[in-house]
Amino acid sequence: MRVELLGTAAAEGWPGLFCDCGVCAHARVHKGKDVRTRSSLLIDRCLKIDFPPDTFYHTIAYNIELRTLQALLFTHAHDDHFCPTELQYSGVHFVSKLLERPLPVYGPPEVIETLRPMQQKSALPLELHTLCVWKTETIAGYEVTPIRAHHDPTITCFNYVLRDARGTTLLYASDTGWYDEETWSFLLNYKLDAVIAECTKGPIEGDYGGHMSISDVVKMKQWLLENGIIRPDTPIVATHFSHNGGFTHAQLEAALGKAQIVAAYDGYVLSVGQ
Ligand SMILES: [Zn+2]
Ligand SMILES: [Zn+2]
Ligand SMILES: [Zn+2]
Repeated sequence: MRVELLGTAAAEGWPGLFCDCGVCAHARVHKGKDVRTRSSLLIDRCLKIDFPPDTFYHTIAYNIELRTLQALLFTHAHDDHFCPTELQYSGVHFVSKLLERPLPVYGPPEVIETLRPMQQKSALPLELHTLCVWKTETIAGYEVTPIRAHHDPTITCFNYVLRDARGTTLLYASDTGWYDEETWSFLLNYKLDAVIAECTKGPIEGDYGGHMSISDVVKMKQWLLENGIIRPDTPIVATHFSHNGGFTHAQLEAALGKAQIVAAYDGYVLSVGQ
């Protein structure tokens, strides 16, 4: 499984669109790994998770042909993950040739029910499927299981366990805070080959419980290890960082590195089970 982290920022991007804090100013000058776009994953160039407002840029920066995607999967309806207006450009007035086969789109009810009237009004070449928590579906040849995130109680928020045809298994844990008991119990069914976990808060503790900090991700790694779900050498990658944490990329790398956790940056590629 080859996983590309196309973007690694929290909602407002990094530098934050209207922010002039120290790390945003640093990012504007130094660019490189300190500039982060909105979060999305591309798996084996065929399955994409989320469609953020930076998708146009991602297609250019990473040479992505959206026409060749086999499926699009959504975690939740927050606008840094779900930009429905951009999907209208799959429609008849915006392409020289419509997709030969509609793009299968999967996600929680709020995402699918937002897309449905658009799809019907403009005959968009999208094939819409609502996912149910804990229920595994085969999507683009992967076994995909939505698990309950601890994120925004007003909408359905999924994280995903994905298993490819070789049995390589990945947990994508974004967006979420510390899981509720039922999610931890469900994870006991798995042996994971890699984990990508959000780390929105960086060094900040307390505050909003719907995101994780560095110490939460370290605790998560320990919990997964203690319960035999991962091995000591299983790659753990942190993403979805906010500038509000006040750490540069180098500082995030140093802090997470102490626990052998990778601080992802835009374009980071994780290869597992190959
Ligand atoms: Zn987010
Ligand atoms: Zn800032
Ligand atoms: Zn969110």
